[in-house]
Amino acid sequence: EGSIIGDFSPSRRLTVLSGPSGVGKSTVVAEIRRAHPEVWLSVSVTTRKPRPGEQHGVEYFFADDPEFDRLVASGELLEWAEFAGNRYGTPRRPVLDKLAAGVPTLLEIDLQGARQVRQSMPEALLVFLAPPTWEELEKRLRGRGTEPDDVIARRLDAGRVEMAAEPEFDTTLVNTDVHDVCVQLIALMTDPSAVTIAS
Ligand code: 5GP
Repeated sequence: EGSIIGDFSPSRRLTVLSGPSGVGKSTVVAEIRRAHPEVWLSVSVTTRKPRPGEQHGVEYFFADDPEFDRLVASGELLEWAEFAGNRYGTPRRPVLDKLAAGVPTLLEIDLQGARQVRQSMPEALLVFLAPPTWEELEKRLRGRGTEPDDVIARRLDAGRVEMAAEPEFDTTLVNTDVHDVCVQLIALMTDPSAVTIAS
């Protein structure tokens, strides 16, 4: 027991969960946070304003633009990206510390960030979260139907581009059921050879 994890180099224990906007990444992460305290979830820094119920240091560290600029300039972020008008980044130090301590570590970040991790930590396991069907994602992206047509069209275009990133990933999990996805993700994190999901 435990030797499975020990067989992997420390950076191998870094898992990146990414995928198109609207696919349900944050729901998966909420379930992991609830049911899998053995997994350490990186807390990103963002310039976006907190949503109701979000706590500083739990979902995100909330920062203003000058503070984010400082983190970028000082190289304190492992990766960062602009998404829908706000900036998001992963603090480097805590990730490296957890990996060094052998703790299974998970980043939930957008596709641009996943590509940066691919470059800087090639042994990280990149997991693409996919919708069950394009129609399902389309429904999510259309939202409540309150958005103007041009906004929806832009979201759908972005969604198609994001779906095309799937081949860049090591594996795909299809988000049909949040619980199933979590079980598969945990299996991948502890023994990547245990699960092979064809994409
Ligand atoms: P939200 O504002 O809905 O919490 O997140 C918006 C997007 O930012 C999501 O796709 C989420 O995965 C992404 N995101 C959250 N934290 C980070 C981060 O540290 N780096 C990058 N590149 N994306 C992030």
